[in-house]
Amino acid sequence: MDQDDYKCILDNLFDGVYFVNAKRVITYWNHGAERISGFSAQDVVGKGCADGILRHITGSGEELCTRLCPLAKTLVDGEPREDEVFLHHKNGHRVPVSVRIAPLRDKDGAIIGAVEVFSDATPQQRLREEVNELRSLAMTDQLTGLGNRAAAGRQFKRRMSECKRFGVPFGLLFADIDHFKKVNDTYGHDTGDCVLAQIAKTLKSSLRGVDALCRWGGEEFVALVPKVDEKAFHSIAERMRRFVEATSIPSGCGHPPLRFTISVGGALARPDDTLTSLAARADTMMYEAKRSGRNCIRLDCNCEAAGEDSAD
Ligand code: GH3
Ligand code: MG
Ligand code: MG
Repeated sequence: MDQDDYKCILDNLFDGVYFVNAKRVITYWNHGAERISGFSAQDVVGKGCADGILRHITGSGEELCTRLCPLAKTLVDGEPREDEVFLHHKNGHRVPVSVRIAPLRDKDGAIIGAVEVFSDATPQQRLREEVNELRSLAMTDQLTGLGNRAAAGRQFKRRMSECKRFGVPFGLLFADIDHFKKVNDTYGHDTGDCVLAQIAKTLKSSLRGVDALCRWGGEEFVALVPKVDEKAFHSIAERMRRFVEATSIPSGCGHPPLRFTISVGGALARPDDTLTSLAARADTMMYEAKRSGRNCIRLDCNCEAAGEDSAD
């Protein structure tokens, strides 16, 4: 193939391709670059790439052309680079582009310019946004806005890895609203839903910033609480219980406000725990609290791994 064949291939590549010389003056601009940026070869060839044409910015909106230009860096150190940036379209809008830059060298290896290949990243960006949105939807309980059971699983993994790597203890608290069925039976399911949302907010506000509250299902919530010893664990569980007990929820239509209590069971994590085993111990303790008359807390603070001999 002769040079014209190569140029024809470059011209018609789907990706945008352009060359700059060592002074960052644009010497070549293909059809793909025209299509993605809206600028024709005539608009840009002979201009400096920092002459306010493409005006790349980073994802956080920082100007690249003046200080952070990856192309300028490659011209200095000869290193190839990849980046995700936003170019300025001729029509006056931003286009997300994936950019790859490589140095151009003469036969002695001296850098004589650089080539930038860029592709429209709009589809990937949309896909990323959709994936993030779906991920967050899949992890959120729609009624309360709290994380759901899948989110609790994620939190558990984080806490367990922190516990194993750095020895940070954590526990799980299982809170179940007492006699919740009565509110549905008396006021209807919609009022029951409102009550669940209000109690979720109260529980959240009773916890520390590092704690994660999730809706386990129905009228049951779990909190994953890191950095706790027995005493702190007890006081967090007790605070959850008191906050709910001390809060009244308007029932509307001249009825007296509704009052609720919760029964809380808790277990401190053991090194061999899974979310299921830890939640099961906390659930058992919650039933202990129910059996003891409700509106109270019961905790299992034995952190020894199952099967380990207890010290005697
Ligand atoms: P206990 O003190 O033993 O926990 O009694 P309880 O009535 O709270 O427990 P039970 O398990 O008998 O009833 C739970 C009720 O929670 C029954 C169910 O209709 C209601 N519930 C579960 N999920 C929802 C929901 O999303 N919305 C509403 N409104 N009610 C729900
Ligand atoms: Mg229940
Ligand atoms: Mg209940």
